[in-house]
Amino acid sequence: MDAPPSPFAAPGWTTRFAPAPTGWLHLGHAGAAAWVWGAARAFGGRVLLRVEDHDRIRSRPQFERALEEDLAWLGCEPDAPPVRQSERDALYREALARLAGRDLVYVCDCSRRRIRERAPGGDAEELRYPGTCRDRGLAEAASPIRRIRLERTEVVFADLLLGERRQVPADQCGDLAARDRDGQWTYQFAVAVDDLGQGVDVVIRGEDLLASTGRQVQLAQLLGRARPPRFLHHPLIRRADGAKLSKSGRDTGLRELRAAGWSAERVLGAAAAAVGLLPAPEPLAVPALAGLVRAALARGGAAEPAAS
Ligand SMILES: [Zn+2]
Repeated sequence: MDAPPSPFAAPGWTTRFAPAPTGWLHLGHAGAAAWVWGAARAFGGRVLLRVEDHDRIRSRPQFERALEEDLAWLGCEPDAPPVRQSERDALYREALARLAGRDLVYVCDCSRRRIRERAPGGDAEELRYPGTCRDRGLAEAASPIRRIRLERTEVVFADLLLGERRQVPADQCGDLAARDRDGQWTYQFAVAVDDLGQGVDVVIRGEDLLASTGRQVQLAQLLGRARPPRFLHHPLIRRADGAKLSKSGRDTGLRELRAAGWSAERVLGAAAAAVGLLPAPEPLAVPALAGLVRAALARGGAAEPAAS
């Protein structure tokens, strides 16, 4: 039987699972893993594990050890040794220097408060940097904050599950911070550099990040990517009260569920149901995820979320 063509990329494509070691893994992570490993196993992809510890203040080694153990317990084995953002400082510096060489980077010393005061509109879902320091010519030593000039352009991308989307990052967030007040690389900058450097073709992640995909595409282009990665945004697990699961959600922590006697198959099945891969929870192992992701893509969307 011929395998169906991959909707993702050429055979041998690469995706990543990229948790931050700032807390314990919970059911939401297992749901994300179900999409990532399911898609990779269904369509000939490779999964990289990227430990997103760019936030040096909140990241903890014990969370990193725990997340690797928890993934192994679930049966979600990455296809290469893990990579840590904390070990990639030279790459981020080099990428920023390349952009600076094209006059795309400037020093900013704005506090959040100053940005809030000067931000136009203020419908508050996101703070748009109003470009205060664009032409101030601040010296390097004035502040650790570095911003990247974003030309005002509409970014069009086709989400593999949700279809075509259009975003204007310059209107959403303004010039992007690459490094923050604490001298730390920002999430947006670090992952764009990593996805380029690691050859990530397909980014599979929760729909809570959908609003920032346009800037990822624009950043990828600025960094010199001829072809930005493709994106699939999957449904998130939500509690009955509508709140996104937090890392402190002890009731759904994988370690708590395991301690309460849940098998890995039961956890994976519950997670798969909650992120639209199954109509109702049933125990399953990683190989079964491939068929579920195929079916979800064939439906053109996620399954009706399981009633809870
Ligand atoms: Zn500024």
